[in-house]
Amino acid sequence: MVLPFPYGLGAALAIFIAFPLILRRRYMSRMRGGYGGGSDSGSGGGGFFGMGSPNSSGGVRYVCLVCNNKHKGGTCPRCGSKMQRADF
Ligand SMILES: [Zn+2]
Repeated sequence: MVLPFPYGLGAALAIFIAFPLILRRRYMSRMRGGYGGGSDSGSGGGGFFGMGSPNSSGGVRYVCLVCNNKHKGGTCPRCGSKMQRADF
């Protein structure tokens, strides 16, 4: 089916405009009532508070491997050892 130029262009435009509308109408009629607009996803705002560490000062604290003393990096203030691990 070959149409002259303006009519062919108009028909193509009509098809390209009407086809998504028909598809969308059929899609929305199929899942009627359940069209929530997708607002229930991606609202992860308060999830970061629950996994917080017990220390309130923030940052990384270290636990001495010798005397199990919690300190802030460097050498242990209690026994002076540098053997430590990070405590998140
Ligand atoms: Zn220590």
